[in-house]
Amino acid sequence: MVAAHRQNRPWSGETVAREDPHVPNYVADCYLCPGNRRVSGAQNDKYERTFVFDNDHPCVGFDAPQNLPVSGGLYVSRPATGIARVVCYSPRHDVALAELDLLEIQNLLRVWQEQYVELRGRKEIAHVLIFENRGEVVGVSNPHPHCQIYATNFVFKTIETEARAGGRHLCETGRVLFQDIIEAERADGRRIIFENEFAIVFLPYFARYAYEVFVAPKTTHPSIACLSDREVIDFARALKSILVRFENLWQMPFPYVMTLHQAPTDSGDYAGFHFHIEFHPPLRQPNLLKYLAGPEIGGGNFLSDTAPEEKAAELRAQPGIHYKSRSM
Ligand SMILES: [Zn+2]
Ligand SMILES: [Zn+2]
Repeated sequence: MVAAHRQNRPWSGETVAREDPHVPNYVADCYLCPGNRRVSGAQNDKYERTFVFDNDHPCVGFDAPQNLPVSGGLYVSRPATGIARVVCYSPRHDVALAELDLLEIQNLLRVWQEQYVELRGRKEIAHVLIFENRGEVVGVSNPHPHCQIYATNFVFKTIETEARAGGRHLCETGRVLFQDIIEAERADGRRIIFENEFAIVFLPYFARYAYEVFVAPKTTHPSIACLSDREVIDFARALKSILVRFENLWQMPFPYVMTLHQAPTDSGDYAGFHFHIEFHPPLRQPNLLKYLAGPEIGGGNFLSDTAPEEKAAELRAQPGIHYKSRSM
């Protein structure tokens, strides 16, 4: 539901404080900075680009209890197992993904490719979820730029739904659902934020959050691993273009949940799956959270106070150079 006329209604509730942008480039007790020791006792490499390690406190592991208590009745339990990893984007504590240069972002995309390929190769892994939670409002207190990987013996719900919808669309129409979405977005044009030869960035017609943005290759690939070198270069540009615009919007670190949506790695047929990245930013104004309440949690439909076309225009109008590098 879009109710854009409501966005200026008076607000007297909670606001979110702006995050302090003054961060040192190395922090002695940061568990992600190069050479530092983590709580587990393990020591980080003195890495110079990216650094991947198994999470010391994984939410899924292969030592999950196998003999679960019988729940009885309708309820069925099974072990959730897998591998949880952390990927540090940069040895620098004080940079955001948006501030990495194009070569560093390309390098990160290649790390994601390698991780997907390695983890998909394990027969017990059904899905690889790569995501970044950014900002205190989504629960991250350490600003060191990093993402997480959950490689699990089950497929996450949203991916399962997308795979099923895509499979049904392919069956009914012979077309890839995501290609039809790109076609509809390009035909309208108002919600496209950035485009180059191989990649596209748009705020979809069906966006639930004010600044929900999709970044996708134009060619259908089931995962990031299938992107060619030229596609990686264009995808890095597209990703940087939206990250920089997010940061420029309010000239502050822009909180978001970023997730790579990739085909499951179980034995299913995912011919219609089109890899993309989704951003779900929780703020709708510089210091105002989008609250999930009655319509969203209670009813299951999102109520948006903003029109996607206006928000896309706002992002498009932002400069393509990060505000911090402009002021230098
Ligand atoms: Zn750090
Ligand atoms: Zn998706």
